[in-house]
Amino acid sequence: MRPEALLHPTAEGLYCPFGKFHVDPVRPVERALITHGHSDHARPGHGHVLATRQTLDIMRLRCGPEFAGSTQAVAYGEKIAIEGTDVCFHPAGHVLGSAQISIERDGMRIVVSGDYKRSADPTCTPFEPVGCDVFITEATFGLPVFHHPSPSIEIGKLLASLRQFPERSHLVGAYALGKAQRVISLLRHAGYDRPIYIHGALSRLCDYYESEGVMLGDLRPATGEDPDARDFRGAVVVGPPSAFNDRWARRFSEPLSVFASGWMMVRQRAKQRGVELPLVISDHCDWPELTTTISELSPGQVWVTHGREEALVRWCELQGIAARPLHLVGYEDEGD
Ligand SMILES: [Zn+2]
Repeated sequence: MRPEALLHPTAEGLYCPFGKFHVDPVRPVERALITHGHSDHARPGHGHVLATRQTLDIMRLRCGPEFAGSTQAVAYGEKIAIEGTDVCFHPAGHVLGSAQISIERDGMRIVVSGDYKRSADPTCTPFEPVGCDVFITEATFGLPVFHHPSPSIEIGKLLASLRQFPERSHLVGAYALGKAQRVISLLRHAGYDRPIYIHGALSRLCDYYESEGVMLGDLRPATGEDPDARDFRGAVVVGPPSAFNDRWARRFSEPLSVFASGWMMVRQRAKQRGVELPLVISDHCDWPELTTTISELSPGQVWVTHGREEALVRWCELQGIAARPLHLVGYEDEGD
């Protein structure tokens, strides 16, 4: 069987005609398998959704209880047969509950990795390499210039800035699902034990992470009602990146703009956003992680979904691995 018979791109996303399901469809479909809870992958309105329990919980929190007609939770490593096609979810190390999905039939195995990373992250289960005939990967940071430093070094820059500017509120922009909890967790692991103030958009997800055993310490709403906080002098305030542009952000003392994203590698992007302290903390693979993963798996073929496809396809070809870009659209990376 050609792999394209088992899984191929359609306007809705990757489709398996045997199992009659889509993976991370960008439009409503009858049957969806969802890799993780970021909004570009986990959209509401599908007939039936198969995902990890944590991804289903996150979709419910973000989209409401009616986000799908029906749902089925799957555990990591649990094999499920759909119309004679075996599917299995494996940890992707991207955000809480994130999974790669292996799809297998007649001895052909395709792994859809979704979004994934290899660097250490105490807020989710680490990526598990799964041997396969076809490995489907994203390439958000698929250029050799992208090397993400160790997250502990980056969080050390934030702690140094807090010492250097004890009067200033440090406003940390971080995406609501995954990045915000990772930044808070990194601060706690570095020994920062003061209260951390969070924007309202983060509270339900932070509560959920804590209920799943990810300890985030003393979190308080950044509403200004806390008498200890007043104007948040010298405090760490975490919010979604968009929040710091609106009225909400005017309450802070001499605000210092911080942004945690893989894109902070690109100095121009930090400058455009007016970021004073860029932190290169990414929930995606950088170039060494992408190429190391492909070398380790040594698949027969690599398909690249989106991002900087051409450079990664070219690299695969130079290694003697057949590769092609899929040019999937609709995956804008909520959580880079
Ligand atoms: Zn994602």
